[in-house]
Amino acid sequence: MSIASLSPSRLLIASVLLLVGCGSEPSDSPQPSSSTPEIVVYSERREPLIEPIFERYRRETGIRVRFVTDTGTALIERLAAEGARTPADLFLSVDAGTLWLAAERGLLAPVRSAKLEAAVPAHLRDPEGRWFGLSQRARTIVYARDRVDPARLSGLESLGDPAFRGRVCLRTSKKVYNQSLVAMAIERLGEEATEAMVRAWVANLAAPPFADDTQLILSLAAGQCDLGLVNTYYLGRLHAEGRATQVWPYFPPEGTHVNVSGAGITAHAPRPDAALAFLEWLVSPEVQADFAGLNFEYPVREGVALSPIIERYGVFRPDPVHVVVAGKRQAQAVALMDRAGWR
Ligand code: FE
Repeated sequence: MSIASLSPSRLLIASVLLLVGCGSEPSDSPQPSSSTPEIVVYSERREPLIEPIFERYRRETGIRVRFVTDTGTALIERLAAEGARTPADLFLSVDAGTLWLAAERGLLAPVRSAKLEAAVPAHLRDPEGRWFGLSQRARTIVYARDRVDPARLSGLESLGDPAFRGRVCLRTSKKVYNQSLVAMAIERLGEEATEAMVRAWVANLAAPPFADDTQLILSLAAGQCDLGLVNTYYLGRLHAEGRATQVWPYFPPEGTHVNVSGAGITAHAPRPDAALAFLEWLVSPEVQADFAGLNFEYPVREGVALSPIIERYGVFRPDPVHVVVAGKRQAQAVALMDRAGWR
């Protein structure tokens, strides 16, 4: 954050934040002059996935996008603590449940925008316009092509098939991606059926739950297990490097669980109009391919080209459950996973 561009009252806040060491800054970005038009983004999405997009915006419009990256939880607390004095115009998250929480806490402002409403399908944005999905993230079964016949798979329930006893890898239930997936399964199947399904998954585990999806895929590729549950972009990243090539995604016929990365304008944005223009730019056809493609994700906007790496995975039908359920049922999902013994 550039101190030079801040008003005295903001300067005080900035000093306090620097002292407590919140967030991170792009160390190589030049200090903007006070006359440079700019917006400020608090981002849970990692720097390598946003910096090229923000730089493209600066080239196209002259507007500099400054950013701070941290966990969604930390950024929500920071926004709440800063209140009306926040320098942030936008909150960018990688989970619908986290966006829902930020909106529930009154940290995001409702906006109406014909461009955003036309570009982002209704189930991938807040009904009140406080946040909008920017890319879709599919979380689904992956399997070893040399050891599993995909004809044996019939949905997420298949991870609990007794035929796969001792052959399944899962990531920890502490990860919000799994919590959101279970929350949305509860909406679709009911609590009882979801708990039975999750118990069957746990009974099939080959190893204790993994800390991250990449580790899980590499273990699967190495033969520690034959099936897993991951976000497909982690597979895309490995495939782009020529790794884990025998691991492949399976998309269930009943619909694939989809979460979003997305953003909302903060309740006290110093530059709400500039923030809205930036959001509308992010869902334009030309930008959607890059925003999603940088991380092998799926655009929210229809008719946008996919990264060639993930195009090979084939098309899937997204689960039509509104992603807001990920937030509304998160506590219920966490309790269910705990009862089912998913560590
Ligand atoms: Fe991720």
